Amino acid sequence: MSKEFDVVVIGSGPAGYVAAIRCAQLGFNTACVEQWRAPDDQPVYGGTCLNVGCIPSKALLDTSHKFHEMRHRFADHGIEAGQGAIDVAAMMARKNKVVGQLTQGVAGLFRGNKVTGISGKGRLLGPGRVEVGQPNGEKEEIGAAHVILASGSEPIAIPPTPVDDAFIVDSTGALEFDSVPQKLGVIGAGVIGLELGSVWSRLGSEVTVLEALDDFLPALDRQTAREALKIFTRQGLDIKLGARVEGSRVNKRRKHPVVVSYQDAQDKEKGGKEASFDKLIVAVGRRPVSAGLADPAAGLAIDGRGFVEVDAFCATNLPNVYAVGDLVRGPMLAHKGMEEGVMVAERLAGKKTQVNYALVPSVIYTHPEVAWAGKNEDELKQEGIECATGVFSFAASGRALAAHDTDGMVKLVVEKATDRIAGCQVIGASAADLLQQIVIAMEFGASAEDIALTMFPHPALSEVVHESALAARGHAIHKVNRKR
Ligand code: FAD
Ligand code: AMP
Repeated sequence: MSKEFDVVVIGSGPAGYVAAIRCAQLGFNTACVEQWRAPDDQPVYGGTCLNVGCIPSKALLDTSHKFHEMRHRFADHGIEAGQGAIDVAAMMARKNKVVGQLTQGVAGLFRGNKVTGISGKGRLLGPGRVEVGQPNGEKEEIGAAHVILASGSEPIAIPPTPVDDAFIVDSTGALEFDSVPQKLGVIGAGVIGLELGSVWSRLGSEVTVLEALDDFLPALDRQTAREALKIFTRQGLDIKLGARVEGSRVNKRRKHPVVVSYQDAQDKEKGGKEASFDKLIVAVGRRPVSAGLADPAAGLAIDGRGFVEVDAFCATNLPNVYAVGDLVRGPMLAHKGMEEGVMVAERLAGKKTQVNYALVPSVIYTHPEVAWAGKNEDELKQEGIECATGVFSFAASGRALAAHDTDGMVKLVVEKATDRIAGCQVIGASAADLLQQIVIAMEFGASAEDIALTMFPHPALSEVVHESALAARGHAIHKVNRKR
């Protein structure tokens, strides 16, 4: 074998690159194999998240939010900006620059930590053996005491709406439109569908979201989900629940070329319906990239949905072979993969690191953001655990009012018997960062009283978190408490 490493990581998304860096920090001679390549044949690190996921979507969300504020909110501040205009090419160029800075940043971190980057397609031949293939068919075998699989995920395609990268696109295509579609359809009201729908809606598209489920955002409790749906609808997203897409056709001669047919469960008498769009985004979820990742002779256990089977510490069924990130069970989120990468590296170094899967924060980066962690009220009730809730609206926050950003609420859920915080849901400006205060508190096993007795700066958005804890105990100050 030409090269031997202590650790070889396959894939350089957030799970893989973090695993590689942490392994190198801990003294392992580490390589990371990545197949994504730049025109000069150098590997492009960062995976889905940096290249076509978290980062470019946030860049477009931030640009479109500023544009929307200018058009619809500046006048309230007395700022006369007029209608302005969006230069889509410039917006995309900025987004690409942000992506380039971050992917180059990972390359810099690899150099700084002495991680060897290898360009090519990695394939597990068996414990300790990885093959790296090149597009021209050349193959090289490298040796590794430990292998970490981190090949990530890809968009799910559904037969009724085949992606053609022109009219019907997946999330990657939706980050590359060269103009603002007049009428945009989105299939799937999940995190990605709502974020991408919001981007183009704020820039002027008429957006219809078709969602097969009857429930909006099933991960939230129904009170919070209703509030989120109300806000998104008011913003102009036409979210059709119970709408299962069954077919599509593209007719370039039509004004709106993509015709989508769907069953509307909420309107049974009328049966099948049609809607026409200029572009259609298919955002129905993602699936793990596990096909071809391992030689069948290696015997890597993969479940029926394509996830590599792992235990709580991300060990596969093969000795010294681990798998992390979107490739394995659990929420498909960058930070979940990063923590798994750290855990595997540290356990290889003999530490006892674990991931707390009960406390993975989730965020939809719309405006307002929607963020949640832990258990919600409905879940606790189903488990028969008595709980108290503390709800506080952004409308009652002086800082939110001053910022003209009053949509949303915090809902804290507390176990009645112990006062321990069980979960939190936040809709509002900076919800991700506000939620994280509670996530940290929960990691320390905090009670609602701990938060209630903590001093918060005034006026700050974080006061809504404080008030939600006070409300859970029946004595919020800046709202009238309901009699208990
Ligand atoms: P990936 O990021 O998918 O990386 C896998 C890497 O492995 C890729 O670079 C791929 O080229 C490489 N690879 C695959 N097979 C091989 C092989 N055989 N050999 C070599 N290399 C290989 N998550 C969040 O937490 N927050 C967000 O805001 C967020 N926004 C998102 C927005 C969008 C539009 C999308 C699509 C996703 C978003 N996600 C977000 C999800 C997030 O991107 C993923 O959870 C995350 O990227 C998973 O990381 P990973 O390292 O497991 O895999
Ligand atoms: P997520 O998995 O969070 O990215 O969300 C994807 C969403 O797409 C889910 O809420 C699915 O119910 C929805 N979905 C999947 N297939 C269809 C379909 N054919 N028509 C409408 N919605 C769909």
